[in-house]
Formats: sequence, C-alpha cells, structure tokens
Amino acid sequence: MGMNVAIDGPAGAGKSTIAKQVASKLQFIYVDTGAMYRTIALSLLRRGTDCENDSALKQALEEMDIRIGYEDGVQQMLLNGENVTGLIRTEEVSKMASISSAKPIVREKLMDLQRTLARENDVLMDGRDIGTRILPDAQVKIFLTASVEARAARRFKEMQEKGVPCTLEEIRADIEERDYRDMHRDTAPLIQAEDAVLVDTSDMTIDEVTDTIVRLVNEKR
Ligand code: C5P
Repeated sequence: MGMNVAIDGPAGAGKSTIAKQVASKLQFIYVDTGAMYRTIALSLLRRGTDCENDSALKQALEEMDIRIGYEDGVQQMLLNGENVTGLIRTEEVSKMASISSAKPIVREKLMDLQRTLARENDVLMDGRDIGTRILPDAQVKIFLTASVEARAARRFKEMQEKGVPCTLEEIRADIEERDYRDMHRDTAPLIQAEDAVLVDTSDMTIDEVTDTIVRLVNEKR
C-alpha cells in the first residue's frame, strides 16, 4: 500500500489548491474526487437523467465510463473517452454533483476506482468522505475548513477573475445550500473523522496551510 493522505472538508475551504501544492511538494499523486462526482453530474445533465428515477439513474451509470488520467501531473477527467476536465466547474454542475452524490449507487460507482488508486500509489486524496469511508486507514487525515464568509469571498474572487457574472450573496447562498446537503445526507455525509486533524484556513495563507500539512505528513513517514 502507498502512503495515503485524506483531506476532507466543505466547499471552498481551499482543498484542491492546497492538495495540489502539498502533493507536488511530497511527490504524491493528487486525486480530486470532487472532479469524479462532477464528471458523473455532467453526464447526467447532458442525458437529462432524473436522479430520483432509480432505474434511469442505474442505466445512465451503467452506460457511463469514467476514467482518470494525468497530463503533466494534472488530473484529467475522461467521460466515455472525452476529456471533460474544462467543463465540470460550472455552478450547474456543482449543484448536480451535490444532488447526485447523495445517491448510494453513484458513490458505489466511484469507490473502487478511488481505493485502487490509493492502493497502488502514494496519494493525497480530497473529498468529503475520504477519511471516514474511502480510506479509513489513511496515515494522515485532515479536515480542512473555513468560515462561510471566508469561503464565499474566495469563490467570489475566483469567479470575478474568470469573468463569470455573480454576486457575493449568490455565491454565499450556493455554498451554504451545498454544505447543508453534503452534511445532512444519509449516505457518506460530510463529517470530520475522529482521527482527523482540524485545520481552519479562514485566517491562514495558502503557504501556511501547505506547510502545516507537509509537516504532519513528514512526521508520519
Ligand atoms: O469538491 P467539489 O466541490 O468539487 O465536489 C463537488 C460535489 O461532489 C460536492 O458538493 C459533494 O456533494 C460531492 N462530493 C462527494 N464526495 C466526495 C467529493 C465530492 O460527495 N468525496
């Protein structure tokens, strides 16, 4: 088994930015599990699948081939052979990912893929249920969080830089809605694993958070 680091936390806590930096410093593979749920969501949106219709959802999942690849160390998502990495960051996909990921059948589809990656490599995996369900034996578990205000402000800045029209209030409402759904679902709700280290990034710089996690990992190596 490779060395496994699990990073869980709510939307906008900085998981992917931090995880990418830490993985590159440690020479680990970064596995962004949110991107996998987003790829399923994109496919469901394209097909117009109703997630509440169990048989339609089952059929859609059976006909969907989800793969992960790496280009210059950057994770790429492949949907039936098409590279959809650039298409999964819209608000529409975020919402559909949050809705469809509450379905056990959707989570089952990704579990083996995630565990196999962790078995075969030194990985830093981020998501919502990595420390609690996917990699309960991970050597290091981090629960990365930040206040809603800090998370909304970061996401708003990101959207402005991309030129996406939105207001801070909309972003905040969206984050709160997604957190609520992720934390209150029956299957794999977002909770801090008992043995996870809590890191609140509200008043920390990216480098400070990265250094903290690298130190925690090096202590276990
Ligand atoms: O992390 P990201 O915002 O890209 O994740 C998109 C959505 O996918 C989350 O809101 C959550 O509902 C779902 N997700 C999940 N379990 C994971 C990763 C993401 O349910 N391990």
